[in-house]
Amino acid sequence: MPILVMKFGGTSVATLDRIHRASKRVAREVANGFDVIVIVSAMSGKTNELVGWVDETSPMYDAREYDAVVSSGENVTAGLMSLRLQEMDIPARSWQGWQVPVQTTSVHSAARIEDIPPANIMAKFGEGMKVAVVAGFQGVSPEGRITTLGRGGSDTTAVAFAASFGAERCDIYTDVDGVYTTDPRLTDKARKLDRIAFEEMLELASLGAKVLQTRSVELAMRYKVKLRVLSSFEEYDPNAGTLVCDEEDIVEQNVVSGVAYQRDEAKMTLISVADRPGIASAIFGPLSEAGVNVDMIVQNISEDGRTDMTFSCPVDQVARAQKAMEDAKTAGDINFHDLLADTDVAKVSVVGIGMRSHTGIAAKMFDVLSREGINIKVITTSEIKISVLIDRKYMELAVQALHDAFELDTAG
Ligand code: ASP
Ligand code: MG
Repeated sequence: MPILVMKFGGTSVATLDRIHRASKRVAREVANGFDVIVIVSAMSGKTNELVGWVDETSPMYDAREYDAVVSSGENVTAGLMSLRLQEMDIPARSWQGWQVPVQTTSVHSAARIEDIPPANIMAKFGEGMKVAVVAGFQGVSPEGRITTLGRGGSDTTAVAFAASFGAERCDIYTDVDGVYTTDPRLTDKARKLDRIAFEEMLELASLGAKVLQTRSVELAMRYKVKLRVLSSFEEYDPNAGTLVCDEEDIVEQNVVSGVAYQRDEAKMTLISVADRPGIASAIFGPLSEAGVNVDMIVQNISEDGRTDMTFSCPVDQVARAQKAMEDAKTAGDINFHDLLADTDVAKVSVVGIGMRSHTGIAAKMFDVLSREGINIKVITTSEIKISVLIDRKYMELAVQALHDAFELDTAG
């Protein structure tokens, strides 16, 4: 029997009624001839509640116990859905991560899946089980402890199962009906994409289009798992949602596929640091050790052996970054005159695989922003993305203007 992986996120299993509705979708795929592996999230809000309980009990918690507590939300959903399917006369069984087993590293609260041996579940399919309902987000370490995969990790569980079991497809049921050209809350011209390439999705996911956990897209790209993102709140339609796939499977490629943004960024500048070999490492080493997620980096022009170094990071990490830099200065590892923090900036990016073969996208982007009177503070580019840092108050305007200029509201 061909295997289908279906993943239901927290809002799709938020109540018993929604679990019932999700189960009907599973039943339909069983009727379509699939053996189904369902990956479930915790009921919406549950994981946050569990995390809160851990924090309240033990602020400096032991991560192994954090995982023991926080993984439990998924167990509840898996059992309930299995019961619901049995009520519908569908042979179903729930599986916790360790029972499969979903083998992970021992990095508690941020473990990576190493292997999912299919034998146990396949044996049960062989005995007539039609649906395996697997608790997402969790696995087991080599030491035999429960692990979790990081927030949003059930997406990654789903893709990993699809890869390990050679599934036809991995359907991710969520509360949005697909991947959009930009955030529909910023412009009503945002359009749902029928298809998007893995690489584009990766850029959009890591840029803050919060539909899929970034790691799940990386995994899907590596193993060429066909991923479909679709809503569990809409009527059944075999062509619903957005297919995230190999770029070869996209016939009509757009030059630009989407405009992404990150609202809460900060721009930090070290004024007058020595321009010498090793300076970047002396700055960014301590920042990384302090857990600062540095994104854009610009080293400015040097004069008299001194230079300014600018970088961006999330705004809630500014204090941490400042402390790391002051400490490095006190230790004599770096020297600077001043550290400026601009905490009112946002990042806006245009993304598209077509940029590889088309020129002039950056020029067009800068032209659009200049016509709106928006000043660009930092620019970075990759093969398929151009990002700018601008004043936060212009973020929505920039997204709308770029979306219009690249005609993302119309297909093709
Ligand atoms: N329940 C977990 C979380 O909220 C995992 C998931 O739903 O993907 O992060
Ligand atoms: Mg999610």
